[in-house]
Amino acid sequence: MPSRSKRKAGGKLGEYEEKRDFETTPEPRTKRRRRRDGKPRFVVQEHSARRLHWDLRLEHDGVAASWAVPNGMPDDPDENRKAIHTEDHPLEYLDFEGEIPAGQYGAGTMSIWDRGTYEAEKWEDGKVVVSFAGERLEGRYALFRTGSEPDWMIHRIDPPAAERDPFPESVVPMLAKLAPLPATDEGWGSEIKWDGVRAIAYCRPGRLSLETRNLNDVTAQYPEVRRLSRQLGARDAVLDGELVAFDEEGRPSFERLQQRIHQTAESVVRRRMKSHPVTYVIFDLLYLDGDDLTGEPYAARRERLEGLGLSGESWQTPAYSTGHAAELLEAGAEQGLEGIVMKRLDSRYAPGKRNGSWLKVKNVGRQEFVIGGWVPGSGRRENRVGSILIGYRDDGELRYAGKVGTGYSERALDDLGERLQGIESEVNPFAGEGLPRNSRFVEPVLVAEIEFRELTTDGMVRHGSFKGLRDDKPAGEVTLERPGS
Ligand code: MN
Repeated sequence: MPSRSKRKAGGKLGEYEEKRDFETTPEPRTKRRRRRDGKPRFVVQEHSARRLHWDLRLEHDGVAASWAVPNGMPDDPDENRKAIHTEDHPLEYLDFEGEIPAGQYGAGTMSIWDRGTYEAEKWEDGKVVVSFAGERLEGRYALFRTGSEPDWMIHRIDPPAAERDPFPESVVPMLAKLAPLPATDEGWGSEIKWDGVRAIAYCRPGRLSLETRNLNDVTAQYPEVRRLSRQLGARDAVLDGELVAFDEEGRPSFERLQQRIHQTAESVVRRRMKSHPVTYVIFDLLYLDGDDLTGEPYAARRERLEGLGLSGESWQTPAYSTGHAAELLEAGAEQGLEGIVMKRLDSRYAPGKRNGSWLKVKNVGRQEFVIGGWVPGSGRRENRVGSILIGYRDDGELRYAGKVGTGYSERALDDLGERLQGIESEVNPFAGEGLPRNSRFVEPVLVAEIEFRELTTDGMVRHGSFKGLRDDKPAGEVTLERPGS
């Protein structure tokens, strides 16, 4: 529908007018305007559309020349960022903020991230060099075409505006030491022990990636968490937390999470995302906007984290409590929860360390073991797995720790049977006595999460129950955890 104002605006804004229905969108229509005096203006709009991006617009020649920058404005001259040249917008757009309705071009929320004036040093076909004077954006930048339209890049020419700590990579999460409840909870923060998969989230404008404790990239496995990057907008953040699947009663369920842990095929992930959604439970902040926070005390990191107000359909930042550790542990026990984690309020974040600043206090025995074999079942489970034989690493040997014959769902039994068949072995991998006579052996590569009522002084598990397989810890690193050890 060619509109009158399209003609009025002439060729320059034709595309802008064409893409929009001004009866529906609150975006400005084009008006003829007189020339303004003074320096030309710029705006950077944060546009949460189908994909989060930033729109840079420069007042030039009676219109707002525009680029969409998917990863935000770079602040380091070492980095060129993509800038997609888009249609000229009317100058009124420099002040636009609001909701573009669903179904409209660019549907979503647009807010002003920064604005100010700029000076153009160069404005040629395919190359623009400007100096920004905004609230956030300050300094010289170059925009240049890299091939054919609309592919441009943006580059900061000046040194970084402020000294920044480097963005961390491959952080191995800090670990908690198994311990009894300390004599006093003074100086400790306590929270529920989330029963899931530990993950560090690396968030930069428009992108997010998740890595488990063994540094596996699992971003594609948990796509529902990606939208968190919209809430963070243009911030750089590194978060520590746990990927958790909740059951109908709202309890973390490692069993439910099994449906996600081992899935990587995209179609399966899409389906399971609906049937077995996960929540990223965030409990620490390691880096924010150029500040490495790992040297800050836990309480201060949490304060910064809570200040971000991160909360959404697939991520949460539950509060921790100071004091009341015993009550929290007991309340958790009543709900069938594994235990609590206590963190010294004044402790620094020590990547990969289990230094006693973080403690896990458990209601039930629970840890991972290596599967070294199995025995067939009887009755209903004849020819299938009856029990698995488990062990742990000690002095270079795999110590036998007993057999576990309960806790399996039908699906888990099938899955386990298949996996064990694939790694069958003639060799008994265990050191130690007491193996059942009809034992079958496997290569000791699978790691199972086992809950147990009792652990004998010689390291045997009694009344163990299978909770699921883990793939975030190498079998060679599975040792026996004892309170205080
Ligand atoms: Mn846009």
